[in-house]
Amino acid sequence: MSAADVILLLENVSKSFDGFKAVNDLNFALDRGELRTIIGPNGAGKSTMLDLITGRTRPDEGRVLFGEGRDLTRLNEFEISRLGIGRKFQTPSVYGDHTVFENILLSLAGSRGVLAALFAKVRRAQRDRIHEVLGIVGLVGKAALRAGALSHGEKQWLELGMLLAQDAQVLLVDEPAAGMTDHETARTAELLVGLAGSHSLIVIEHDMEFVRLIARRVTVLHQGSVLCEGSMDAVQNDPRVIEVYLGRQHAPAGAAA
Ligand code: ADP
Ligand code: MG
Repeated sequence: MSAADVILLLENVSKSFDGFKAVNDLNFALDRGELRTIIGPNGAGKSTMLDLITGRTRPDEGRVLFGEGRDLTRLNEFEISRLGIGRKFQTPSVYGDHTVFENILLSLAGSRGVLAALFAKVRRAQRDRIHEVLGIVGLVGKAALRAGALSHGEKQWLELGMLLAQDAQVLLVDEPAAGMTDHETARTAELLVGLAGSHSLIVIEHDMEFVRLIARRVTVLHQGSVLCEGSMDAVQNDPRVIEVYLGRQHAPAGAAA
């Protein structure tokens, strides 16, 4: 890998669906410990970019390099996740009939069967780690609740906790604030900001209020490529960004003035 502190590198990555270039010669680098926010209009290729990193979708061209230069495009989804790259989808997927504690336990157990994990005696070290993770995501008090009974925001936090329990170093988070209350949104921002440094994060988001809470370096994706990158202020005042968002529903506040 070119720079020692880059953990994820996309080089000239392209992907077409039925002749339509969803991702078009995309170049992108994430530093170790960085929290990067990605914005861009609907259909810009943001989710597809995550699909290409996690192996859900194969690129037509280009490479996706991780860590010391491992080419992820040669690995399957399971292998990529095992390397420590965790993906959080827009809709939380937790085991609704199991408790919050058990959900984290199942993630810790990794490839052990679900039943084996649930019936085995929980070891002290596992219990400690589960409580540590629940502490990070703010769900200690809900450990014994059925996950299905959690609020939408709490389910999202639980799912983040499940990624942490899997020892994911890179967290790919797609529109976490969607459907959250203002309070949950603020808590989510704190949580993600708190994970930066010890983890490397890509956060895709539409909600500009939320973006402003977490933004460090911001990348604007447009038609499958990087339109511009920089601080929130720089990006918002970039004429190319204003042009792309003009007249759109999700215009960054201030940009279309
Ligand atoms: P964003 O997340 O920025 O809104 P997406 O990455 O979801 O954008 O989509 C980019 C474009 O690629 C869209 O036009 C979408 O319809 C298309 N696309 C994404 N995934 C698929 C797929 N699996 N099959 C066909 N078209 C897809
Ligand atoms: Mg998307």
